[in-house]
Amino acid sequence: MKTLFEPFKIKVVEHIRETTEAERTTLLKKAHYNPFMIKAEDVLIDFLTDSGTAAMSDHQWAAIMEGDESYAGSSSFYHFEKVVKEITGFKHVIPTHQGRAAERILFSIIAKTGDIIPNNTHFDTTRANIEFNKAEALDLVIPEGKIPELVHPFKGNIDLEKLSAFVEKNYKHIPLGMITITNNSGGGQPISMSNLRETSYIFKKYKIPFFIDACRFAENAYFIKLREKGYESKSILEISQEMFSYANGCTMSAKKDGLVNTGGFLALNDDALAEKIKNLSILTEGFPTYGGMTGRDLNALAVGLQEVLEENYLRYRLRTAEYMGEKLLAAGVSIIQPTGGHAVYIDAKHFYSHIPLHEFPAQALVCSLYKKGGIRSVEIGSVMFQNPAMELVRLAFPRRTYTQSHFDYAIEVIIECFKERDTACGLKIIWEPPFLRHFSAQFEPVSKVHQSQ
Ligand SMILES: *Cc1c(COP(=O)(O)O)cnc(C)c1O
Repeated sequence: MKTLFEPFKIKVVEHIRETTEAERTTLLKKAHYNPFMIKAEDVLIDFLTDSGTAAMSDHQWAAIMEGDESYAGSSSFYHFEKVVKEITGFKHVIPTHQGRAAERILFSIIAKTGDIIPNNTHFDTTRANIEFNKAEALDLVIPEGKIPELVHPFKGNIDLEKLSAFVEKNYKHIPLGMITITNNSGGGQPISMSNLRETSYIFKKYKIPFFIDACRFAENAYFIKLREKGYESKSILEISQEMFSYANGCTMSAKKDGLVNTGGFLALNDDALAEKIKNLSILTEGFPTYGGMTGRDLNALAVGLQEVLEENYLRYRLRTAEYMGEKLLAAGVSIIQPTGGHAVYIDAKHFYSHIPLHEFPAQALVCSLYKKGGIRSVEIGSVMFQNPAMELVRLAFPRRTYTQSHFDYAIEVIIECFKERDTACGLKIIWEPPFLRHFSAQFEPVSKVHQSQ
């Protein structure tokens, strides 16, 4: 059969409160044209993020009931540890309350002034934790990874020539090398097995530890299965094990491919480093057998990490983004191609080509999608960054939460907005905070009269 369906049945439902366009127009105005300020109950379809928004399975809920809340040595920890060890092969597994806690602990131990940490593209929290420790975060993704409409099977690959030359010159100042799978900041694009292998050889040559930012490791493994020769008949577990075999450790936000709503971990082989991590983790996360998580959450995560390896789940997962991408491209909407694992990114410079960059076309599109259809998305452009390379709107997909009709509805809303694009106007900032302004900045529409002047 050609029809692909969601590989799950629905046992519990969550009501969506319907709103009208008139109501949303008022809500948007009250939120100062910043959907971060809109209440979730006023959103019909929430594509703000795929982080911590997954629907858990009946097995995970059962694991919640069976969670062991013992302070030390809880059986839920050993369940979780066994699963992580099976997938990653790493010797030490240390839970944290989310991904950035793992990053904070790791970098406060290994990074110092003058150090440089290369990656394909550092995720914002990774970069921030490196910079907080006065080290430099260096992005070395292949040039193809920065061109939205360019189709390449592994746009998340690290540039091996650049990396090799850089490491040769600077190895004394590189305490750790990293790679982010999939490359979130570059559009959720995958990294090939051969790129991972070659990257590991470069670091190994200079005895530099190599860590994987593993948030979407299962999505990456499925891309390898689909696109890289020699992996067609391997299981996702086998591919994941091989990916991790090239690294000395990993950081993980379980809020992504852990299929849970909270959690993270560090896993690694080095005994001395693991000892330091555990000592520091006790200060802020907790005893090493719970690390800021409850026993029940660790237990549900152990189940989630096994469910995420199921191929029919990953097929449906990757196809979702691809399906939306195909429909948008057919309607003339420009997006990052090919679609990645967890999101679709619309090129707002193309969508609202009449709105100048200083009037924030991506933010204007985020507002239009909410007003037209109650869809919440996020601006990744000139509001979030100064002089960004691209002006994007990201629609990130919670795992196992929405059905195909929800996606069809969202596609219709986007295409309607595209048809009416000439009527859209830009925005101006009327208030902004000193840091991370995209979360709370306030906007006002730039009047049409002003635009036609
Ligand atoms: C989400 C994410 C993180 C940070 O994890 P949190 O759980 O949000 O703290 C780090 N790296 C990547 C690639 C991510 O997507």
